[in-house]
Amino acid sequence: MNIYDMTYQKLCDFLTEHGDKKSRAEIILSALYRNGISDLSLIEIPEKAKKLITDNFEIPTIECIDVSDGGTAVKYLFRLNDGNLVETVLMRHEYGASVCVSTQAGCNMGCKFCRSGRLRKIRNLTAGEIVQQVLYINRKTPLSGISVMGIGEPLDNFENVLDFVDIMLYPKGLALAPRRITVSTCGLVPQIEKLTEMHFPSNLAVSLHAPNNELRSELMPINKKYPLEVLMPAVTEFSEKLNKRVALEYVMIKGVNDSEKCAEELCRLIGESNCYVNIIRYNSSEGDIYECSDFEQIMRFYDVLKKNNIGVTMRREMGSSVNAACGQLRSDYIN
Ligand code: SAH
Repeated sequence: MNIYDMTYQKLCDFLTEHGDKKSRAEIILSALYRNGISDLSLIEIPEKAKKLITDNFEIPTIECIDVSDGGTAVKYLFRLNDGNLVETVLMRHEYGASVCVSTQAGCNMGCKFCRSGRLRKIRNLTAGEIVQQVLYINRKTPLSGISVMGIGEPLDNFENVLDFVDIMLYPKGLALAPRRITVSTCGLVPQIEKLTEMHFPSNLAVSLHAPNNELRSELMPINKKYPLEVLMPAVTEFSEKLNKRVALEYVMIKGVNDSEKCAEELCRLIGESNCYVNIIRYNSSEGDIYECSDFEQIMRFYDVLKKNNIGVTMRREMGSSVNAACGQLRSDYIN
């Protein structure tokens, strides 16, 4: 088993089931996350306990096979134990650094504009494989935030992503503040409802990209299963019950979803809910049928939202120079 798959609770259970003390879990996890120990035999616990750990757990390799440094964004391509490739992006902000992690090898959501989905999902990543992306980068650059927005649909790998978040928040480990983690989804409604029920501690972002069903279903097939009249109430409920603002991501695609009419529709859709819009520049890659909206059009869109008192942020264009947008580096290798 991968030791990084273990939440505090799972490790406690393992230890007690094997006749050891539960209190060992804290020592093991802080050795891994606080002291950065990468050899299980170096953890300072009695020999018998150490044998139990080294007999049952390992630290599988994740090998970095390419790095492209674009200044504000650095993209890492990792090869997992079984040869699958995933991408992780380090983003340097004025206030610190954050990392964008992948949760699946491939993706089944099939969003038309997204590169990640060109390769169908091969498998879910384990919690440990997501953790290892963070640790690899955290060793060199201390991180102040994590976006679960890389390759894959996080809520389609629900249990492992929840374990991952749990491990990142563990107070004797990396101890990230819950608000420092954002999980982004294309809109899997049953899972959003579960997050609300379980009082998910971190933030949620929803990739919206269109203000009506007709357009959204064309861009994002998932909308046929969970259309806006189902999605928006689930998002509003999450926001209200957990008292968190939800980001609605909106990628600006020229002539497709960037008109003032779309902006007005978006305002009506958001209504009184506590959501805000995160405008993202579309990052095009070779052979793409879409391109990014003109700057002037993005500003007109922005102005409509502002005039209607909708909260709006604009993500700085970070990854484009290193092909860091969504599946691009990886697809350079695979195609
Ligand atoms: N599956 C999740 C998370 C991964 S995608 C989700 O859908 O939210 C992370 C974000 O990047 C999503 O908002 C996605 O729609 C967006 N994205 C995908 N391709 C893009 C591109 N070429 N340019 C800009 N943003 C893109």
